[in-house]
Amino acid sequence: METKDAILELRRYLNLSQNEFAERLFVTRQAVSRWENGDTIPDTGTLKLIAKTFDVSVDYLLGLLIGQCQSCGMILVKNSDKGTECDGSKSEEYCTFCYQKGEFVQELSIEELVEHNLMDLDNWNRTNGLNLTKQEARTALLSFLPSLKRWKKENKPE
Ligand SMILES: [Zn+2]
Repeated sequence: METKDAILELRRYLNLSQNEFAERLFVTRQAVSRWENGDTIPDTGTLKLIAKTFDVSVDYLLGLLIGQCQSCGMILVKNSDKGTECDGSKSEEYCTFCYQKGEFVQELSIEELVEHNLMDLDNWNRTNGLNLTKQEARTALLSFLPSLKRWKKENKPE
């Protein structure tokens, strides 16, 4: 993912217009528009400001993270959405719903996880820039989730 995509994804996730996003950062709407079009990249100081303002990491903004929970597929945008490792540090691979202190919170089946994701369908659609019905989203998730790290391992033959 590139910085322009990360910024667009973040803004969608926050459900802010370009104007509202710009106001929070004390920049112009045009500046935000140029970032999202890839015409310019925010300088380091601005990246740090975006990270601090919206509780995301600079690595996320630079497009260096996988950015998706490897259990439920939720997009990992905010630091507070991330699960924690044994030592209390933030996980870059799993969300807080799935993973706490280095372990999966619940033994869930893929089907149960799909139903959990569907409870928040509006949010999921918005963040992904999609407009799927529940049934379409269910089908998409059921084919997509098995490719994530948590489920790949389980499906490996002994
Ligand atoms: Zn998750």
